Amino acid sequence: MATILALHAHPDDIEELCAGTLARLAAAGHTVRLVTATAGECGSDATDLAATGALRRAEAAQAAALIGAEYACAGLPDLGVFNCDAHRRTITEMIRSARPDIVIAPSPVDYHPDHEAVSVLARDACFAASVPNYATGPSAPLAAIPHLYFTDPIEGRDRDGRKVAADFAVDVSEVMETKRAMLARHASQSAWVARQHGIADSTDGMVRFAAWRGQAFGVAFAEGFRHYRHHPYPRAPLLQELLGAAVRQPSPDAAAS
Ligand SMILES: [Zn+2]
Repeated sequence: MATILALHAHPDDIEELCAGTLARLAAAGHTVRLVTATAGECGSDATDLAATGALRRAEAAQAAALIGAEYACAGLPDLGVFNCDAHRRTITEMIRSARPDIVIAPSPVDYHPDHEAVSVLARDACFAASVPNYATGPSAPLAAIPHLYFTDPIEGRDRDGRKVAADFAVDVSEVMETKRAMLARHASQSAWVARQHGIADSTDGMVRFAAWRGQAFGVAFAEGFRHYRHHPYPRAPLLQELLGAAVRQPSPDAAAS
C-alpha cells in the first residue's frame, strides 16, 4: 500500500481539484494525507483572521475525515506564500512528516499567487526532503524523492485564460457524491465565494469543471493531472498504476483540451 500526500494552498482547493482521485485511492486501502500550506484565513469578510483560520482548518479536517484521511495545515500566511528559504523548509518538513510515495501538488500556473508559490515549493521540497543535510525539523529525511504530480489549475486555465492540458485524467464519476460532500464541508466559503468570485454555488462550479474535464476524456466526470518527470524525480507512473482502469489517456482530438 502506498502513501499519497495531496498538498495545496488553501482549504477547499484539494476538494475542487483532486478529492475524487483521493477518494478512490483511500477506498483501495492506500494512506491519504491532505495538507494545505495556509488556513485560508483571508477567505472571509465576516470573521477575523484567527477565527476564519480556525473554522477553515476544522472544515478541512471534516472533509478529509469523509475518506478516512488526516489533514494538517503548514501555517503559512494566506496571500503570503513565497518561494523563499523559510517556506521551502516548512513545506519540506510537512513532506518528510507525511513520508509519501506520491505528492500531488498545485499546477505551476493558476489564478492565485499562493497556488503558484505552493507548486514551486512542493516541487523543490520533494527534492530537498531527500537531502540529509537540509535541516527542517524533527522528521527524518526521505529515502528517495517522491513521485510528483500536478493537479489542473482552477477552471483548467492559466492567468491569461489559456487551457492547460492534462497528461491524463482519472475517472471520478463513481465518487462524485463523495467529492461533492467533501467540498460542501467548506460551508464558510459559500457566501465568500459568491461575493468575492461572483460564483453563486461553488459546489455546482466544481461539478461543471469535472464534467468539462471528463468530456475531453470520454467519461462523465474527471480530474486531470500532469506527471513531473524531470531529473532526478521518479519517472515510473506510480499514481497511474495505483488507479488502474480509472486512468484515461487523452485522445488525439482532445490533446489540446
Ligand atoms: Zn486556493
